[in-house]
Amino acid sequence: MSFYDKYLKWEDFDFAGYWKQLNDDDIEEILNQERLNTLDYLALLSPKAEKYLELMAQKAQKLTLKHFGKVVFLYTPLYLANYCVNQCLYCGFNVKENIERKKLNLSEIAKEAEAIANMGFRHILILTGESRKKTPVKYIKEAVELLTDYFDSIAIEIYPLEIDEYEELIAAGVDSLTIYQEVYNQEQYDRLHIAGPKRNYHFRLDAPERGCKAGMRAVNIGALLGLEDWRKEAFFTGIHAEYLQNNYLDVEVSLSVPRMRPHLGSFQPESKVEDENLVQILLASRLFLPRAGLNISTRERASLRDNLISLGITKMSANAKTSVGGYAESNTELDDDTCQFEISDNRTVNEVTTMLHKQGYQPVFKNWHIF
Ligand code: SF4
Repeated sequence: MSFYDKYLKWEDFDFAGYWKQLNDDDIEEILNQERLNTLDYLALLSPKAEKYLELMAQKAQKLTLKHFGKVVFLYTPLYLANYCVNQCLYCGFNVKENIERKKLNLSEIAKEAEAIANMGFRHILILTGESRKKTPVKYIKEAVELLTDYFDSIAIEIYPLEIDEYEELIAAGVDSLTIYQEVYNQEQYDRLHIAGPKRNYHFRLDAPERGCKAGMRAVNIGALLGLEDWRKEAFFTGIHAEYLQNNYLDVEVSLSVPRMRPHLGSFQPESKVEDENLVQILLASRLFLPRAGLNISTRERASLRDNLISLGITKMSANAKTSVGGYAESNTELDDDTCQFEISDNRTVNEVTTMLHKQGYQPVFKNWHIF
């Protein structure tokens, strides 16, 4: 059964009806169980479970300590280019946005790499907009080969590829893949992706699995929270992660919970996701998927990120720039119209590592190398 088959089984489920008939005993019973099934997970995402966040947090903390210890893996994104052929209504890189388009050449990439490596990072996430013409696989491969001189672990967040293309990038030095479905609800997906190859819902939905088949060591998925009912989108993200974990036992599967941030363009989130909603998603996901990594980016403000750490976060970005050439150049977020969205936590790497140490956590800059 493909993940899409699994999605279809749930697409017409009466979510509201299920949530409505849940009572306190149901939630308490679920919280006493060792292992959760899919319906249990859905129950923990319900309005009824909102008053159990404290209990969920205690359990999530224990599970995280058991599976990951007190370590948080740090990385930073490197935007290689912002050319994009897609028309996603919610993104400042949208082909219709009249912004300055940039693509780093190899010497500019080297400068960025040096600036990032000097901050202590050994793991990097490279991103492009989605343009096969402007940023073909060959370009990304050359960038990766160069970046292996600076970093031990290289992740990609680019347009979805075929299996053999993922294999080519793995051979060049990539070990991890991040790809967000953005929105699992098919009708909403069609409404928000007006033009471009990204309109192909299925090709995107199957990309994480193609990455697993190609041999990625780690695969990170997520939905862009705010585009559709967050409870359902979190549910589909969780069962997608479970599907990958069950079918690709040697792949490290993780989830991100990106919320919509201010960006160039006028699109406003359709579904508001409050801080407590984000907490509920993280806790329910940890309880359902104890072995999955949970990633929180600098989209979220510093105080919230600090409070989320003990609840199950295993990975976070730091000192991130979402503009092309943002590290070697001195520019300010949103003064530069090549940035994808506004950063909320602008702390330096030192400030983030100090905060982690204060909370009794070890910041990790590459897998199991503790500073
Ligand atoms: S979300 Fe990605 S594909 Fe869509 S416009 Fe932005 S960069 Fe392009």
